[in-house]
Amino acid sequence: MWLVVFVFGLFIGSFLNVCIWRIPREESVVFPPSHCTGCGRRLGALELIPVLSFLWQRGRCAGCGAEVSWRYPAVELASAVMFVLLFLRFGWPEFVIHAVFFAILLVIFFIDIDHQIIPNRLVLLLLGYSLLIQVVWPQVAWSDALLGGLLGGGLFLFLAVVSGGGMGGGDIKLVAVLGLWYGWAQLLLLMFLAFLGGGLIGGILLILGIKKRKDGIPFGPFLVLAAFVVTMWGRQLLEWYLRISGL
Ligand SMILES: [Zn+2]
Repeated sequence: MWLVVFVFGLFIGSFLNVCIWRIPREESVVFPPSHCTGCGRRLGALELIPVLSFLWQRGRCAGCGAEVSWRYPAVELASAVMFVLLFLRFGWPEFVIHAVFFAILLVIFFIDIDHQIIPNRLVLLLLGYSLLIQVVWPQVAWSDALLGGLLGGGLFLFLAVVSGGGMGGGDIKLVAVLGLWYGWAQLLLLMFLAFLGGGLIGGILLILGIKKRKDGIPFGPFLVLAAFVVTMWGRQLLEWYLRISGL
């Protein structure tokens, strides 16, 4: 069964690639059909097969020979692995509600890396989806969800003001929606992990000279990674923390 989920995740990942490329360019994600960004040639059915088409074409467009970024198969694989992990964690059918949530977050992850923005329509989509799920399949109590949203949005708004724009408007909105989804307690863990990850990776990039202090590193990807860790292992992490802290 997990193999079916894996292959399904690959095809979803292929569509997410289209979203990552087109949404920041304000293009439709359904029309026109997938084409080479080099020569505009429409892709054939075989070329739409995730990962494998990249391998047998040796990462080049069959029409113009333009190099195809390794990012495309990487996103497809990331999507597939993410789907399998969620499936193993939640089982059928609950994993679907988390898979949709993280499909949207995966798009946000890469758009923020590429453009240092988190498009409003994606945050709105995530907000609408969170509210819908909170109604049909509640993840946390409403009071907890609202407190989480206020806590996350409020804290990041405060950080944006005191850091003079180090935290963007997109981050504030994203973390508010994450607070709504996770509730305040899990959101605290999520923010802790995101700052930990951001600090570590940011420090490493500075030391290696890949980034300079003034460059600024998008924070959205760290929020997304932390969200995934909390969804997968949040409960164990909290229990482990309570045990070692002797509370
Ligand atoms: Zn081409």
